Amino acid sequence: MNKIDIEVSEVGPRDGLQSISQIMSTESKKRWIEALALAGIPEIEVGSFVPARIFPQLADTMEIAKFAKTIEGLKVAALVPNLKGAENAILAGVDKLTIPLSVSETHSMRNVNRTHDQMLDEVKRIVELIRDLPIDERPLIEGALSTAFGCTIEGSISEDRVVELAEALMEAGCSEVGLSDTTGYANPVQVKRLIGKVWDAIGRDHLTGIHLHNTRGQGLANVLAAVEVGLTTVDSSMGGIGGCPAAPGASGNIVTEDLVFLLEAMGLKTGIDFDKLLDARDVVARALPDVELYGFTPNAGLPLGSSLA
Ligand code: ZN
Repeated sequence: MNKIDIEVSEVGPRDGLQSISQIMSTESKKRWIEALALAGIPEIEVGSFVPARIFPQLADTMEIAKFAKTIEGLKVAALVPNLKGAENAILAGVDKLTIPLSVSETHSMRNVNRTHDQMLDEVKRIVELIRDLPIDERPLIEGALSTAFGCTIEGSISEDRVVELAEALMEAGCSEVGLSDTTGYANPVQVKRLIGKVWDAIGRDHLTGIHLHNTRGQGLANVLAAVEVGLTTVDSSMGGIGGCPAAPGASGNIVTEDLVFLLEAMGLKTGIDFDKLLDARDVVARALPDVELYGFTPNAGLPLGSSLA
């Protein structure tokens, strides 16, 4: 495989689908994931191991994760909010568990009904579970610091608190941490500053990725800031599905198609074939006919002479 500069991690099957009311069929999800992998997407967050009553859209995560694991070379990630979820993710054989820890404790209480200390205890239990596995079967554990750039309930979030929690997650046994702009509050200056502070505390190797939303249209500017300082993994969602009820017209996650165009146009290799990426977008468009797909590049087309064409 050719060298990749930036790894695009597709989170649409989890973050995108959990944010819309329409349920994508299990068959369509499989065709979508297959098409994404065929386009060269190296990592896909395929679902969330939560009770079906919370997210009926993701009730088939076990089946989807097992299916995704049959695709050669694909890194399969899943969100796990608790020990039970981790047990299921391990059963499915996923490569990476993402455990969300909301820096806003109010958000954490509303979302998972747990304080920071309770979530960190849960992380420790998950780490113990994984350490019982043979070394070659242990998934990576990412502690995802959500609401790291601001919270819709608490407002601004203390950067010192983000750093403290990043340290606590590493002490609890995570392989790495990630920064999530859950609310679309981030700006590029803040992105650079916060990455620097977290790196100073836990080392560059333990923070390599960022999860951005485009709620206020700042998503790609924030990507540029993150890759300029040296992050190497960026989360995005095909068609930016998910949207934001509070901001009509705003996409949810940053749009995979526009992200790939941005990176490649700047000479950063993603290993992704743009035409095949559009094939994957067609799968989503057909499976979710009532859901708006965002993205400028798919609508405008690639510029004449683009290296992606
Ligand atoms: Zn998100």
